[in-house]
Amino acid sequence: IYLLCRNFPCRQLSHLVHISSPCFTGANGIRLTMESALTARDRVGVQDFVLLENFTSEAAFIENLRKRFKENLIYTYIGSVLVSVNPYKELEIYSKQNMERYRGVSFYEVSPHLYAIADNSYRSLRTERKDQCILISGESGAGKTEATKKILQYYAVTCPASQQVETVKDRLLQSNPVLEAFGNAKTLRNDNSSRFGKYMDVQFDYRGAPVGGHILNYLLEKSRVVHQNHGERNFHIFYQLLEGGEEDLLRRLGLEKNPQQYHYLVKGHCARVSSINDKNDWKIVRRALSVISFKDNEVEDLLSIVASVLHLGNVQFAADEQGNAQVTTENQIKYLARLLAVEGSVLRDALIHKKIIAKGEELISPLNLEQAAYARDALAKAIYGRTFSWLVNKVNKSLAYEFPGWRSTTVLGLLDIYGFEVFQHNSFEQFCINYCNEKLQQLFIELTLKSEQEEYEAEGIAWEPVQYFNNKIICDLVEEKFKGIISILDEECLRPGDATDTTFLEKLEETVKNHPHFLTHKLADQKTRKSLGREEFRLLHYAGEVTYSVAGFLDKNNDLLFRNLKETMCNSENPIINQCFDRTELTDKKRPETAATQFKNSLSKLMEILMSKEPSYIRCIKPNDAKQADRFDEVLIRHQVKYLGLMENLRVRRAGFAYRRKYEVFLQRYKSLCPETWPTWDGRPHDGVAVLVKHLGYKQEEYKMGRTKIFIRFPKTLFATEDALEVR
Ligand code: ADP
Ligand code: MG
Repeated sequence: IYLLCRNFPCRQLSHLVHISSPCFTGANGIRLTMESALTARDRVGVQDFVLLENFTSEAAFIENLRKRFKENLIYTYIGSVLVSVNPYKELEIYSKQNMERYRGVSFYEVSPHLYAIADNSYRSLRTERKDQCILISGESGAGKTEATKKILQYYAVTCPASQQVETVKDRLLQSNPVLEAFGNAKTLRNDNSSRFGKYMDVQFDYRGAPVGGHILNYLLEKSRVVHQNHGERNFHIFYQLLEGGEEDLLRRLGLEKNPQQYHYLVKGHCARVSSINDKNDWKIVRRALSVISFKDNEVEDLLSIVASVLHLGNVQFAADEQGNAQVTTENQIKYLARLLAVEGSVLRDALIHKKIIAKGEELISPLNLEQAAYARDALAKAIYGRTFSWLVNKVNKSLAYEFPGWRSTTVLGLLDIYGFEVFQHNSFEQFCINYCNEKLQQLFIELTLKSEQEEYEAEGIAWEPVQYFNNKIICDLVEEKFKGIISILDEECLRPGDATDTTFLEKLEETVKNHPHFLTHKLADQKTRKSLGREEFRLLHYAGEVTYSVAGFLDKNNDLLFRNLKETMCNSENPIINQCFDRTELTDKKRPETAATQFKNSLSKLMEILMSKEPSYIRCIKPNDAKQADRFDEVLIRHQVKYLGLMENLRVRRAGFAYRRKYEVFLQRYKSLCPETWPTWDGRPHDGVAVLVKHLGYKQEEYKMGRTKIFIRFPKTLFATEDALEVR
């Protein structure tokens, strides 16, 4: 059966084997025996978790995943949610031919696939003219970005085309290598890890052709610019430029080919990675830049900035007799002045002094060694971070769709955002990322329950309330005005004087002390206390406990760049830098928003966007930490099943009825089991199904008849009916 499924793209065949049927007569006339068919169900598991007999058992859930993974069946549904396990090898399931198989076909007729989700969303968009979004989540390396790319490719191949549309499709696809070059890096978890969150809208016109797009980016991990952990790299673009850049270009940028020359590139001790071909990627990025309408001079301006970050990293200081920092690497200043188009002496001074304006007067004070290094790194991060945002903006301009007045468009959004993170050491970044996941979980539960409820209502079936954990309490703990963690953090950041990470922790203890999801060393009981450091707080997230170290919270939240460095950048004649650093920042009396507040606000906007759309979900799972094919690490997977809230999801989905089908479909499939409906039923399908299930002896509590669908409570009822097909 397994071979047949692979070799015959016959819908019915694969549908039956994957979903439930132990036996049947294949559409192409091949009769399969009961025995071999049963073995198949045993071997490949169920294609929808709602059909698991023991749906509350995590072990059964994982066993089903394992069975399927072993057979290279990496996709499984929970109702309409797709669970995907990264195969870490190329599977032949992404061909154009396969794309065609999924086009316009009902969800359950073909085996689970990304394309089914993509096609289903697209069809709802076209037929109901309702905006859609596909939310892709999972931990680093689980396959989110690959999934996003595959969905975009699916649309590029299957949507209607025209000359203008081809250009847009090209740009949509080519924006990826550019943003990945600047926003992705090799980490321990993933050789091509996205270090930013991304939400991308694709606009479709009235014919269903993609005509434009828009990207929102979230929280780029800027700290990577100046520091990488052992075994990790800086952002790809640095290595691509050094490895692939033409000699002429490198000379103009004052760069040497060898990454070992640059402090910002040696921290992780791994400039070369076997799975990455920087030279080749460079060519791809250069080509992509021109597709998204970069002119040659703009490319040069952009690369000047990339080079300037490397030069900044090599700026060194030495202390004079008073302990004040002096620049010892004049050569770097010379390059920087040229690349950033600023006055060299001004930049040099700005790197070793701090300017404060107090009561209208300028106060300039020298920096010590540590402060100067801090200022330098802050500048590198600011330049890179802002250039990244500029780049997203630039991509957006090239994707912008001019509304031709009366024609409206519909939108399909793709969210590829970091999943829940729990490391040995968790800091401000993990705090933000996990907060983001709390928000997404809240949205997920709300929308899943809502859509279940709506379907019941539409079908005229009484809604049975579902017990679930509402994580609003944790979201509030983080984001509530005045009392939430972010508010308290901001307050400490604003407080002049002696505010430190420790005083922040003390304030937290004072304000949220009795919260059931919050704990610190001081607040913990004797037993738990041992597991908590004095500089830590612990949050009980929906997905489990995470302990955060407060070290660096204030600094990262402030995200401070000294005023004189800002001024210097505002005077830059590099057009990109000039756009990135706006003069109004200098005159604006209002304090800029802190990093956490900015993130909170952008998340709240994202929630609004997602709420206004009809969601689909793809939950990605990483099978092992070694990035290897055919390895199913059960412990790791169990964690992810928990973090992704899959059991909760299944419970909500199974709370009422495991299975539901339109009367026509159900009747067509099983009509041969009842003499009154076989070979044809002339009346309403609804009545035919009523006669059929009565004949089959369905008990009252086993099913309900809705307006257009039959709802079956337990999988075993369905399996018995399936089995009856053959017994007949
Ligand atoms: P994430 O974005 O979730 O961090 P990626 O999408 O970058 O993870 O995937 C990590 C790596 O896993 C990819 O570089 C690729 O090698 C592999 N991978 C992911 N999805 C697939 C897939 N469907 N088929 C084959 N390999 C995959
Ligand atoms: Mg990614």
